Amino acid sequence: MAMKVTVDIDLCQGHSVCLGECPEVFDVVDSDEGYPQVVVLLEHPGEELREKVEKAAQYCPNHVITIEED
Ligand code: SF4
Repeated sequence: MAMKVTVDIDLCQGHSVCLGECPEVFDVVDSDEGYPQVVVLLEHPGEELREKVEKAAQYCPNHVITIEED
C-alpha cells in the first residue's frame, strides 16, 4: 500500500501551512485565481514522509488535503 496525496484545489486559499509542514510534497505558487494555491510535487510520497504529510493535512486550515492508500 502506498500513500496517495490529493487536494481539493477549489478550496485551497494559499495559506502555505502545507508547505511549511512538508516542502518535499507541497509547493504553493501563484494561480489564475489571483492568489497562491497548492501544487502537489509528489503524489506518491515515500513512507518516510508520512508523518509530515499527515501533519500538513491535519493543519491545513481549509482541510483540502486527503491521504488515500492505493
Ligand atoms: S495549507 Fe491548505 S489551503 Fe493552504 S496552501 Fe496548503 S492546501 Fe492550500
